[in-house]
Amino acid sequence: MVDFQPILDQIHKNIQQCSDKGRVADYIPELSKVDPKKFGISILDNQAQQFSVGDAQERFSIQSVSKVLLLSMAFAKVGDALWKRVDVEPSGDPFNHLSLLEMENGIPRNPLINAGAIVVCDVLLSQLKNPREEFLQYIRDIAGDDSIHYDLDVAESEKRTGFRNYAAANLIKSFGNLEHDVEDVLDFYFHSCAIAMSCEQLVKVFYIFMNRGKCMANNHYLELSQVKRINAIMLTCGFYDEAGEFAFEVGLPGKSGVGGGIVALLPNEFCVATWSPGLNEKGNSKLGMLALEQLTTETGLSIF
Ligand code: GLN
Repeated sequence: MVDFQPILDQIHKNIQQCSDKGRVADYIPELSKVDPKKFGISILDNQAQQFSVGDAQERFSIQSVSKVLLLSMAFAKVGDALWKRVDVEPSGDPFNHLSLLEMENGIPRNPLINAGAIVVCDVLLSQLKNPREEFLQYIRDIAGDDSIHYDLDVAESEKRTGFRNYAAANLIKSFGNLEHDVEDVLDFYFHSCAIAMSCEQLVKVFYIFMNRGKCMANNHYLELSQVKRINAIMLTCGFYDEAGEFAFEVGLPGKSGVGGGIVALLPNEFCVATWSPGLNEKGNSKLGMLALEQLTTETGLSIF
């Protein structure tokens, strides 16, 4: 068993000395209100031991991190039929890229870019009676934490300014790869991005991807082969056009969001979440990536 606490304390010290914290996302106006000095990390290991530093209990907007949770709910419900609607190739492009190449015949390149997650939302709308409520409950159940909620101000803010997501959804619809109304699909999509959680809560949710599909309470959410696929998609597509850099520097499957959160995991060993709202030019948390690089270098624990 690794005692992660001294390593996290050291990383926290190192990070506090960094003057360039990156830029907080402001294209969703509500996100620009967040204090750029916030920083937290939490690790949950395979013995359910939790280690944290900094602002690890403060909730933030998980944004695109939720794409993995949409994917896991949809994959568990419809199985391999999902791959008829969305592909599994890394895009090498930004998360909100809109070229026709990103969605040949209306099939987005992967479920972790916006276009792909919008299609996954459409799949879920066909499966769920009350999509918003049931998706939130799914996450609460996995974490064993009913206090997880939507930040409705963030959802509203993104709905008002999400022109590019409207464009993507309309483009996909024009190819016949959306069954539901653009408005309904995007309402669900914007809410999923607006889930608020702390690092300590996020690692409990992502525990299922570290623990062969089972949550901390030992309930089964995914088959082992499904976990393998989701982790592979996180490794190759979780950081948009910086997925190669993340694998190179950190060496773990993971997912970032423009709220400044990153979650990553080493299968069967541990799950880690970081939060630092300042982003690099690719839209990934600048100090979060640095902290994770230090963590895997210092411990020698990565999938490689
Ligand atoms: N809600 C954001 C968007 O659709 C999510 C982007 C992200 O976190 N990379 O633009």
